[in-house]
Amino acid sequence: MGRSTLSVIRRHPGQFGVVALSAHRSVAALEALAVEFGARRVALADSGALENRPDLVAVGWGTGADRIVELARLGGVDIVVNAVVGAAGLRPTIAALEAGKRCALANKESLVTAGDLVLRAAQRGGGELVPVDSEHSAILQCVGSARREEIQRLILTASGGPFRGMSAEDLQQADAAMALRHPTWDMGAKITIDSATLANKALEVIEAHFLYGLPYDRIDVVVHPTSIVHSFVEFVDGSVLSQMGQPTMELPILHALTWPRRLPDPVLRDFDPRTASPLVFEPVDEARFPLFRLGVDAGRIGGAAPAVFNAANEVAVEAFLKGMVSFTGIANVVEAALEALEGTAVATLDEVLSVDRTARSRAAAEVERMVRG
Ligand code: MG
Repeated sequence: MGRSTLSVIRRHPGQFGVVALSAHRSVAALEALAVEFGARRVALADSGALENRPDLVAVGWGTGADRIVELARLGGVDIVVNAVVGAAGLRPTIAALEAGKRCALANKESLVTAGDLVLRAAQRGGGELVPVDSEHSAILQCVGSARREEIQRLILTASGGPFRGMSAEDLQQADAAMALRHPTWDMGAKITIDSATLANKALEVIEAHFLYGLPYDRIDVVVHPTSIVHSFVEFVDGSVLSQMGQPTMELPILHALTWPRRLPDPVLRDFDPRTASPLVFEPVDEARFPLFRLGVDAGRIGGAAPAVFNAANEVAVEAFLKGMVSFTGIANVVEAALEALEGTAVATLDEVLSVDRTARSRAAAEVERMVRG
C-alpha cells in the first residue's frame, strides 16, 4: 500500500510532497524512497532495525511504535496515509485524527478493533477519516452529498478469492501457496489469505458500519469475481449507484488524497465496458467460508468481539502460512478465541490493546492444541 501510494504521488509531480515515511523493517528500501521523495522524518516499527545504521540514527531516523505515532501527528502534514498492517495501526490513526489531519485509512484494524474510539478521536481533533479500501472508497463516491437517512443499504462486493469455486472437501487440503494466488488483486500475504477465507469481507462490513453509521442488517455483501464494481449504495427512493474501475489500489489511494476533488490520471483511466462484461454477482457461501459469518456476528455483538475476531484471525493466518493449521482450521481457532472471551467490554484504548493481546495468546494456545492434537 505504501509503495502504491508513492507510485501515485510519483505520477503527480507538484501536487503532493512527502514529509515522512515509515515501514516495518526494510531499511534499504525505505532509505532509497526517503532520498527519492525528500522525506524529512523516517521511522521503522522494528526496534532493532537500525542497529547497524548509526548514520541513519544520526540524521533523525527512529524506531519503535511510538516514533510512528509521532509521525502521524507531525506538524505541517495534511494527510496521513495509514497502511500499517494489523492492530499496530490503531494508535497512528487516533493520533492523526486527534491532530486534525485527514487520515487516509488502509488499516482495517483501526475501525474494526476500536470503531467508537476512532470516531471520537476524529470529533475531538477535527480530523477526517477517508477510506482507502476500494469498497469503502466506492461507497464514499456513491454517497456523494446524500444524507445518512437517504441511504437504505450498502452492498459491498467481494471477489470471492482464489477458492471461490472449491468444494468443502478440497478446502480442507488447500495450502498457503494456493491461497496466495489471488485472481484479481495483488496484495500482501495476510490480506490475500483473508480474502480467500472471506474474513477480509467481514472486516470490511464492520468498517462500513462505523464509516457510514448504518446498522448491520442494512449492509450486504455479494460475490463479484472480476472486481470491476467496487460496491453499491441503494437509496431510500430505490435508486442504486455503483462505482466501477479496474481493480487497482491506486484508484482508491488517489481518491483518498484528492477527495472531494479529482485529479486527471491517464494511467488509471482505461475502463472499457466491453471488456468488463459480463458483470456477475453471486451470494456468499457462508457454509464454505464460515469466517465471514463469524466476523459479521462479532461486529453485531460489538464490545470486544470485533477486536477478538481480528486478533485471533491474525494469529490463525500466521499459523496457516507456516503450515501449522489447515485452511479450514483458521475458523476453528477464531471461534475458540471468540467463545473464550465472550462478553468482554472495552471502553478505552488500553483496554482494546489488552483484549488484543489476550485474544492473541488465546488463539496461540488453540493453535498449539491443534498442532499437538
Ligand atoms: Mg477491500
